[in-house]
Amino acid sequence: MNILVINAGSSSLKYQLFDMETKEIKAKGLCERIGIDGKFTYKPQLEGKEALNAIDVAMPTHSEAIQAVLNALVDEKNGVVASMKEIDAVGHRVLHGGQKFSESVLINEPVIEAIKECIPLGPLHNPANLMGIEACAAVMPGVPQVAVFDTAFHQSMPKSSYMYAIPYEMYEKYGIRRYGFHGTSHRYVSGQAAELLGGAEGTKIITCHLGNGSSMAAVKDGKCFDTSMGLTPLEGVPMGTRSGSIDPAIVEVIANNEGMTPSQVLNMLNKKSGVMGLSGVSSDFRDLDNAAAEGNERAQLALDVFAYSVKKYVGSYAAALGGCDAIVFTAGLGENSPEMRAKIASGLEYMGIEIDLEKNAKRGTVDITGANSKVKVFVIPTNEELVIAMDTEAIVKAL
Ligand code: AMP
Repeated sequence: MNILVINAGSSSLKYQLFDMETKEIKAKGLCERIGIDGKFTYKPQLEGKEALNAIDVAMPTHSEAIQAVLNALVDEKNGVVASMKEIDAVGHRVLHGGQKFSESVLINEPVIEAIKECIPLGPLHNPANLMGIEACAAVMPGVPQVAVFDTAFHQSMPKSSYMYAIPYEMYEKYGIRRYGFHGTSHRYVSGQAAELLGGAEGTKIITCHLGNGSSMAAVKDGKCFDTSMGLTPLEGVPMGTRSGSIDPAIVEVIANNEGMTPSQVLNMLNKKSGVMGLSGVSSDFRDLDNAAAEGNERAQLALDVFAYSVKKYVGSYAAALGGCDAIVFTAGLGENSPEMRAKIASGLEYMGIEIDLEKNAKRGTVDITGANSKVKVFVIPTNEELVIAMDTEAIVKAL
């Protein structure tokens, strides 16, 4: 079975075609500047096939983008399947499923309506995700499509984890509560860690998805118990450009002093804050490492604030779970920065958390637990696209 995985943004669309027999990627790529000038990238993963690098392809809408993807996939010379008939299903990453979806679902009219109803909660992403779904329906009629939600894994949180202490009517009227994001990643890496521990039952796992966007999750018995992102992805640890949690009163203080609207302040908190705002150097942790090594104090401060925040979540989630069997690091920074992992873990020895510095330098899926550590520490590369493909396969096979 071949499954096309789509992650549609407002002006971009990432895709991967999976061969589910081998779980390998046959081709992947990116459509960018949809609705502008259209740049198309295609990277076949089979030998002898040539890549296309950001070539100009007219993509006034997502439909032309999907058509360009299909054309490349079935291309006589550089395609990876003989015809469109060999694409058995499409799996879509959908940002917000609100309280309606606690697992992946086959897309039909009521599901599309429900995704539309969640637009107020995901105003930037859900419309784009819908454009991807509608474009596939138009270009590949009859091919089953599945929605995999970033919020779904977190729907198992107890009410005491997801409610904010604001007037209850705000929840009833507007659905204001913690939803959490990166759910597919937290589900995948906590599942992998549970396997390494010998099964999910009875396990308490803290997952640290540390990338450009970062979030933490406390996972009990394989189910999400708490997570750091909230109503939107702005809450939690500081990120590349997002502030993470701050005193909400700051919004008014900045708005009054700078003559800004609340939306403008939120834009600042989403796009100009985090380690970028603190350092004034970059949102990329590699740049911060380099700048800090050259003596840039604000870059060092940004790294310190980030690591301190993650460390505080580890402590609070260990308290929330009543202990911790394993900590998992994943995503761009979590997978690739032994320095950041060591910085986060340092000082947690009293909790029985120790990292083996030699193992910590290794790459891929590694157990970096120190010799005296009571808590296992794993690095597990995330693979959200594979999870989307596997969910899609399971749902389509059961039809
Ligand atoms: P992601 O959003 O998961 O793709 O993660 C991207 C982020 O990971 C980048 O912005 C970098 O800050 C970070 N990153 C990737 N590789 C490294 C590395 N070798 N050292 C430090 N940070 C890294």
